[in-house]
Amino acid sequence: MRKNIVAGNWKMNKTAKEAEELITALKPLVAKSKPEVVVCVPYTDLWTVAEAIKGSKIHLGAENVAWADKGAFTGEISAEMLKEIGVEYVIIGHSERRQYFGETNETVNKRTKQALANGLKPIVCVGETLEEREKGRTNRVLKKQILEGFEGITDFTNIVVAYEPVWAIGTGKTATAEDANKTIGYIRRTIKTNFGEEVAKALRIQYGGSMKPGNAKELMAERNIDGGLIGGAALKAEDFAAIVNYKD
Ligand code: PEP
Repeated sequence: MRKNIVAGNWKMNKTAKEAEELITALKPLVAKSKPEVVVCVPYTDLWTVAEAIKGSKIHLGAENVAWADKGAFTGEISAEMLKEIGVEYVIIGHSERRQYFGETNETVNKRTKQALANGLKPIVCVGETLEEREKGRTNRVLKKQILEGFEGITDFTNIVVAYEPVWAIGTGKTATAEDANKTIGYIRRTIKTNFGEEVAKALRIQYGGSMKPGNAKELMAERNIDGGLIGGAALKAEDFAAIVNYKD
């Protein structure tokens, strides 16, 4: 049995003060939640949120991690720095990083290995663009992202995959539950073929892309979908909590 995991990706939103307010509002709303709840927040909010979530079931995540231990990497944040704050999860390879900051399958692979080596749990994002989808290349793109992104990795215990069709992120367009389930099924089969049946069975795969209170239940009811990576709706405590508590 895979435990559902719902993670908020705050992106470049919320000052530390706003972050504290959001967590204060969120805490009581997710106190009895069944899925694992994670908030992935900007680096500048991490200390504040680490403090604010104390005594709750909310887990702390960052939005990226450097592939190197330390040194001349201006603007990067190391795994050790994150660990010291109490960070547990890190988003890796989000489509916005791929689109605007030159993230590639190769750098995703390096960051993922570095996270794992330091005891951080990577949430690795994969997904096709609208153009790729319209050209019928979705599976080919996903397979490449998976094979190259996880190249050389054998232990998937701490890995979460987020399937995020790029055309559904922040656009209000959601993949139908059936479609998302089918594509995540393809991801699971690809993992099975290349990394083994046990890995594929145990691996948690989230759906991400305009998930909101109104569609979370339908999406999460699908067999292959083990939770969500939530952008916009994670910025309001009530909306995020409603997604986390989709079963209630
Ligand atoms: C995301 O950024 O990972 C995401 C899914 O965003 P949104 O929910 O806003 O589409």
